[in-house]
Amino acid sequence: MAVKIDESTCVGCAACIESCPVSALEMVDSKAKVNEDTCVDCGACISTCPVEAITM
Ligand code: SF4
Ligand code: SF4
Repeated sequence: MAVKIDESTCVGCAACIESCPVSALEMVDSKAKVNEDTCVDCGACISTCPVEAITM
């Protein structure tokens, strides 16, 4: 399991990156990308995204 990031919605603000307690998120080509093996489904990143690009 891991969150899903809608790349067409993501505006590359990087707000989600620092919200992740296990550093599962990184920026790749100005879009957030989740490492599915690292994500623990805590949901912390979801509420930080200003455009609701992250879903469970
Ligand atoms: S759900 Fe939690 S662990 Fe997974 S990417 Fe978001 S903040 Fe990180
Ligand atoms: S917070 Fe949302 S818009 Fe900003 S980089 Fe993360 S997924 Fe993209």
